[in-house]
Amino acid sequence: MSPAVENAMKRVPREEFVPAQIKDEAYADTPLPIGEGQTISAPHMVAIMAEKLQLEPGLTVLEIGAGSGYHAAISAELIAPGGHVYTIERIASLASFAEGNLKRTGYASLVTVIFGDGTKGLPNKAPFDRIFVAAGAPDVPLPLTDQLAEGGILLVPVGGRYYQDLIRVVRKGKKLEKENLGGCVFVPLIGEHGHH
Ligand code: SAH
Repeated sequence: MSPAVENAMKRVPREEFVPAQIKDEAYADTPLPIGEGQTISAPHMVAIMAEKLQLEPGLTVLEIGAGSGYHAAISAELIAPGGHVYTIERIASLASFAEGNLKRTGYASLVTVIFGDGTKGLPNKAPFDRIFVAAGAPDVPLPLTDQLAEGGILLVPVGGRYYQDLIRVVRKGKKLEKENLGGCVFVPLIGEHGHH
């Protein structure tokens, strides 16, 4: 792990991003339930994605699937100062959960939570230096590659509802270079350019 990612993992208190009744389990390296059938990702997956995204100060980042807000907070640590994280969540109660958690832990000025269907991206804030999807898509959602800046990196789990491959896409001019980083397990991405 790079020192920057290690530092971010140490600074963000995961117990502030899980429901009160499971705070004791907050430091288990596993996904945990956050309500509505959704989960906060396992810390190792958040760390791997932060490494593979090459997050640095100053970057503008889009996350699809805010959930608890934890992954957004880790990203915020890495893009500060000068950067910003936009995170979209399709379940209203989780969008408020993420927003509350991020405010309480001091990340509100670095992260904007948006309620809606993230498979469409966020055209009014595009292009993004980095985009990552925290849910499993049937294919790479086209609006997301369209909203990727030159040299930008997109990470998205692609496959079935229960098992996916983590795909990294890098924009080089009009070309998109794709690489398979290996197997992973995420909840399904549900929306116009996702599962239905
Ligand atoms: N990054 C989160 C993990 C969330 S799990 C964390 O750190 O806690 C994936 C989340 O993606 C769920 O909350 C789910 O509701 C959300 N999701 C699924 N499809 C979506 C879509 N089309 N747009 C936005 N959010 C979506």
